[in-house]
Amino acid sequence: MSLRATARVNLAAIERNVSRLRLAEGVQLCAVVKADAYGHGAVPVARAALRGGAARLAVAAAEEAAELRAAGLDARLLIMGALSAEELPTALAAGAELTAWSDAFVDAVAASASQPVRMHVKLDTGMGRLGTRDAREALGVAERIAAGAPALELAGLMTHFATADTDPEFLEHQLRSFEPLVAEFRRRWPGIAVHAANSAATLRAPDSHFDFVRCGIAIYGCDPMNDDPALRGLEPALELRSYVAAVKRARAGESVGYGRRFVAERETWIATLPIGYGDGVRRALTNNCDVIVDGRRYPLVGTVSMDNITIDLGAEPAARVGQVATVIGRDGDQVQTAEDLANRIGTINYEIVCGISRRVPRAYHRDGEPA
Ligand SMILES: *Cc1c(COP(=O)(O)O)cnc(C)c1O
Repeated sequence: MSLRATARVNLAAIERNVSRLRLAEGVQLCAVVKADAYGHGAVPVARAALRGGAARLAVAAAEEAAELRAAGLDARLLIMGALSAEELPTALAAGAELTAWSDAFVDAVAASASQPVRMHVKLDTGMGRLGTRDAREALGVAERIAAGAPALELAGLMTHFATADTDPEFLEHQLRSFEPLVAEFRRRWPGIAVHAANSAATLRAPDSHFDFVRCGIAIYGCDPMNDDPALRGLEPALELRSYVAAVKRARAGESVGYGRRFVAERETWIATLPIGYGDGVRRALTNNCDVIVDGRRYPLVGTVSMDNITIDLGAEPAARVGQVATVIGRDGDQVQTAEDLANRIGTINYEIVCGISRRVPRAYHRDGEPA
């Protein structure tokens, strides 16, 4: 296979990641498949997550909900993000559950709902983005939803952690500020689902699991703390590959790529791989990561350009034109993870996998077998 750039996604790994996330008896997993399933492809990933045991799905945007419904997925589906008046009809047509924190939004939904709409009230306990910081307002919004029955149904109470990956103390603080409202909601509306945990909280704070956890990054086999995923039994599902399209000699003093940011100190051989920042290989990785060919690591040298990168094969090149080149993934004993790339350039694995562009075809398999 020598397509210029391909993302191979192992759906069996996603199923296993979902089933391995340890949850207490009765706690459900909601698979977060926003942003095209973090670059992995929303529809096949959603199906795999449900096969692995996820009970629900969540996305950020109305169009994302519509895409899943159009593909025939009928699982419970929560839109976690804000919805404008223009987006609301799409969300309602998808039969999605909605996130609410103001009376005005509840009224807008009530005015356009043609079938019962499940709504989740969001309390902002410290993230500082969406939701109300005022527990009394949250209660008021819930009462308004409950009063809107049967067009509206109060389905849940939620919050979101700002530091589950970095600061357990602040997570604890958010949890403590959430609990009184949880008690009040459960007393008044015993059937509702309470949810708070993202992947990091799911892994590190079992007391934050409530009725269901909302896991994104972990189901893709990426580590929410940007450590080695293997340490937590997570299996990266995605591999990003290219191939050796050309091999040429660089004599001492000759340069490679835009801006001449690599100049050969001595004679060496350079391989060009037709993958670049237009595909999602971040330009900041210029002279700052490896690529694996035939089980050996080679330094990426020269500027990452839109369509190509270059690697230094050394004085006696073993790599040949046509061989597979791995940017993310394993080849033989060598592995490079999305976390490795993220840590090189001061970002997070989320941004690495979400950044793989539309130009890169996704190829699905189950442990190497056709999906
Ligand atoms: C994206 C998102 C999640 C999932 O976060 P991960 O860290 O990927 O598990 C959960 N809840 C909300 C509100 C989100 O926006």
